[in-house]
Amino acid sequence: MKIITTPDKRLREKSEKVREINDEIRDIIANMRRMSLDWEKEHPYELSAAMAAPQIGVNKRIIIIRDDMEDKSRATFTALINPEIIRADGKTKLDYEGCLSVPSIYGMVPRASKVKVKAKLEDGTEVRIKATDELARTLLHEIDHLDGVLFIDHIRDNKDAFYKMNDKGDLIPVDYDNKIAHNSKLWGEE
Ligand SMILES: [Zn+2]
Repeated sequence: MKIITTPDKRLREKSEKVREINDEIRDIIANMRRMSLDWEKEHPYELSAAMAAPQIGVNKRIIIIRDDMEDKSRATFTALINPEIIRADGKTKLDYEGCLSVPSIYGMVPRASKVKVKAKLEDGTEVRIKATDELARTLLHEIDHLDGVLFIDHIRDNKDAFYKMNDKGDLIPVDYDNKIAHNSKLWGEE
């Protein structure tokens, strides 16, 4: 298992619901946690905030969310199984997003700033989560993955919304016409 990147078709599939939380599912979650942290070791300026199962090639409705998105030394994640957005509203806000499966590209993505999500925890408990701002954005980004949607899809025609990271860790605008618009590898349209 490894983290898959565009144009891998598994990133574009609709994932299936988890019917039973068994050892197979717990193994997938353990792999997601481990791979998120392995990725982070190789990316000194970035924090691995979350991951969806399709990103390791498993089309099941599972996501993991970092419990503390500020402090890299706190490396625990909560797994959410069959997460569903019940409500997304509040002001639409713009902020940077990146994705382990879309290497080197960042985007300024509009998202609802308030969400309510229903999901199951690993022990089967059903929970409802109310989130705002960064956590709301992360939940929307990850749940999109379960439907085959990537953050770049939300800004596809917006020339000014794409960025890359330089070797100092700063985000700088990327050449849209040459690097983004017709990049079939990025869009998965080979
Ligand atoms: Zn992502």
